[in-house]
Amino acid sequence: MLNNADIQGTVPIGALVKTSLVDYPKKVSSALFLYGCNLRCPYCYNKDLVTGTFKDFEAVSFNDVMAHLQKRKNVISGFVISGGEPCISPFLEPLIEQAHELGYSVKLDTNGTFPEKLASLMKSETCRPDFIAMDVKTSLDRYNLVGCNNTDNIKESIKIISSFPTEKREFRTVLVPPLVDKDNIKEIASLLPKDASWQFANFKNINCLDESYNNIEPYTPSQAKELVNLAKTIIEGANLR
Ligand code: SF4
Repeated sequence: MLNNADIQGTVPIGALVKTSLVDYPKKVSSALFLYGCNLRCPYCYNKDLVTGTFKDFEAVSFNDVMAHLQKRKNVISGFVISGGEPCISPFLEPLIEQAHELGYSVKLDTNGTFPEKLASLMKSETCRPDFIAMDVKTSLDRYNLVGCNNTDNIKESIKIISSFPTEKREFRTVLVPPLVDKDNIKEIASLLPKDASWQFANFKNINCLDESYNNIEPYTPSQAKELVNLAKTIIEGANLR
């Protein structure tokens, strides 16, 4: 566990995309991808972030991030904290708190395996994110395939995030053929609030954490569209990005 001195120091904590038009809905943002993840999704293409090997990214420290946010606060309004899984990072609360102090809206991306952390953030005046996006990987019976054996946590996180106003939350699913088919779509839909914004992306078979997934053919555009159309019949806010 890192102490306050580390948090104020220069240890590498992740990779920073200084300007992004795609990570925060309707906002120009900076996006921080924190190292480390408790899951091992076979299709994950953020290998170096997950394992913390610091290979493919220029690592930044907490101070680097804050200096950047301070410098750009008049031109960028959103700050995205992603990963990896931000909820395992000791930097999460200080990042949110200090970004808020600088006037940023903060979006948190999470895999939903830490409902207690989410509940505690939601209760906090200073650390409550302004937007939360949660990945819903597959139906609960297949979550073991991404390294998660406690699906009660997934259900609980969906419940907590669903209590947030509609415009401040979204759920996201990658259309990975072994994880998401028509039946899985129906099962995931049954977990989500009816007014969910449910954002889909097609799977890319490039640089996957489990190299065997590089041999899996993604859905064709028309198959992906068909799956999202099915999702739309249950959750109107389903959309293919
Ligand atoms: S895709 Fe899975 S393994 Fe990769 S960062 Fe997200 S939750 Fe972690």
